[in-house]
Amino acid sequence: MLKDLSNENIIHIKGKYLDYIKFRKLEKLGVKHAYTLKNEGINFKSPKEEIGEKSYRLLCKELELNYDNLIRPDQRHTNNIKCIDKIYSEDELKEIDGVLTDKKDTILTTTNGDCIVYLLYDPIKKVIGSVHSGWRGTTKRIIENAVNTMINNYKSNAEDIIVCIAPSIRKCHFEVEDDVKKIFEEKFKFTGRLDEFIFKGKKEGKYYIDTVYLNNILLENLGIRKENIIDSGICSVCNSELIGSYRVQGIDFTRATGLICL
Ligand SMILES: [Zn+2]
Repeated sequence: MLKDLSNENIIHIKGKYLDYIKFRKLEKLGVKHAYTLKNEGINFKSPKEEIGEKSYRLLCKELELNYDNLIRPDQRHTNNIKCIDKIYSEDELKEIDGVLTDKKDTILTTTNGDCIVYLLYDPIKKVIGSVHSGWRGTTKRIIENAVNTMINNYKSNAEDIIVCIAPSIRKCHFEVEDDVKKIFEEKFKFTGRLDEFIFKGKKEGKYYIDTVYLNNILLENLGIRKENIIDSGICSVCNSELIGSYRVQGIDFTRATGLICL
């Protein structure tokens, strides 16, 4: 039997149609959501592809949601956030890596395979978000854009916002070379805390970066409360038998989706 990923923050669900995880905090607050695990014949590619459409339809069936209300941005490692007020096609969401809404029944999704996917929720203003932040999006500080857009467009208060962090590549496996390390040093010198998220690797010229920790610094600087940052704590590479991983599987990796709906 495959292992169970449940921990203090997440529940591993073996569903009727597919397996996924839920965040205990969002579940308690009654927010419909999921982060999908590996499932035979399922891959959250664009619904323009047969396997993509099949995957999203099955997930909607599992969660009893209306597939026609699905929002799936055409992610390009940007820091662009869009507020969703009607149903847009993927083609209308080019260069978008994060989506927010306060509309009931609108299904927000982004996908990953090692990158970070964030699910956001403001229980007071009833606003949700799904945000894709790979290392490039992290250097462009997309999570700050998402939180600031919640504050500016939906009048959210930072101290109310809940930020859930799906499985992603963690510092144990996010090994980079000088070029990428230099980008992080350059962009995040201002934090004065580089040594808290950039570490020397075992080999000369290799480094490990903790992008989750770095984004948490940015979130806390914005006034997000520590107890409202809910981390699955799961590395996609360490758990690649259950979780899609670009670094492990290569170009045809299993895309997972982080879905949320009011
Ligand atoms: Zn790992």
